[in-house]
Amino acid sequence: MDKRYIVCLGELLIDFVPEVNGQALADVTGFQRAAGGAPANVAAAVAKLGGDARFIGKIGRDPFGDFLVRTLNEVGVHTAVVQTDEAKTGLAFVSLRADGERDFLFFRDPAADMLLRADEVQTQWLEDAAVYHFGSVSLIAEPCRTATLDAARRAKALGALVSYDPNVRLALWPSADAARAEILAQLPLADVVKVSEEEIEFLLGVDATTGAQQLLQQGPKVVIITLGAEGCRVVTARQDVVIPGTPVAAVDTTGAGDSFVGGMLFQLASLGVTPTSIVAALAEPGAAERVFAFANRVGAITTTRRGAIPALPTLAEVQ
Ligand code: ADP
Repeated sequence: MDKRYIVCLGELLIDFVPEVNGQALADVTGFQRAAGGAPANVAAAVAKLGGDARFIGKIGRDPFGDFLVRTLNEVGVHTAVVQTDEAKTGLAFVSLRADGERDFLFFRDPAADMLLRADEVQTQWLEDAAVYHFGSVSLIAEPCRTATLDAARRAKALGALVSYDPNVRLALWPSADAARAEILAQLPLADVVKVSEEEIEFLLGVDATTGAQQLLQQGPKVVIITLGAEGCRVVTARQDVVIPGTPVAAVDTTGAGDSFVGGMLFQLASLGVTPTSIVAALAEPGAAERVFAFANRVGAITTTRRGAIPALPTLAEVQ
């Protein structure tokens, strides 16, 4: 059977996002609930494009968990979501700062998504995966850290391309040093790693050009550096190219990085690339442009609408 599905594993939670009255940040008129968690957003992006996306995670036996599964299923994600009765579904309360950035207050007591155990992740959920994708938030605490890494090792042994988005969320880690050490330690598992220039600076203390080479030396075969409106830079042993972004009138960049990753993985899976073929496949004339101009368009369209999952484009929109 062709390996074609993309499996994402990790955090799954609801963001409560304030609705503000005009520009007055103090004047909150209500909260919108939004399904979130970076790996869940990536799975939703793949499914919305028409790809076969699976999500593995854990929820509480509560209406918030039901809402999350329903939201993912509605966009076409197949969910292997393990119920739990000892913990509640993860929640985050978002506040908007005057500079437009967001602060998050998490209910993590611990929340159900952080309690996923390795023995709950069935190998059959990974067997025919073309791609296994994970991020760093589920590496913050046990038992989901071991679950994430154990599943990555199993998927890798079964032939999947492993995609890693360090997605540094410093506020969630006990310290910056702990985040840096753990995130760097998992690089050898990854075939593809996506970072921003700020993340390279934080992780390695060097510029993007030097940092991309250092990342390649630690295991990944492809380093993708996202550049916001400027698009992205693709670095392998055989190429270092900037793929320009798609000009749009951005209104909300929430979820742009995740939808970009979803677009990239959708394309890589349709090309049928494997860990051994990816570097040569991307060096084919036009291949990097095909994959990453597409991913840039997916990211760009997501910024033109509010929210993460509700803002994701369909394949027809991207084309
Ligand atoms: P992150 O920092 O989460 O990786 P970015 O903000 O760099 O995410 O966005 C990811 C991708 O989304 C970019 O590489 C680009 O393709 C697209 N994108 C983001 N912001 C814009 C924008 N303002 N205009 C056009 N494309 C954008």
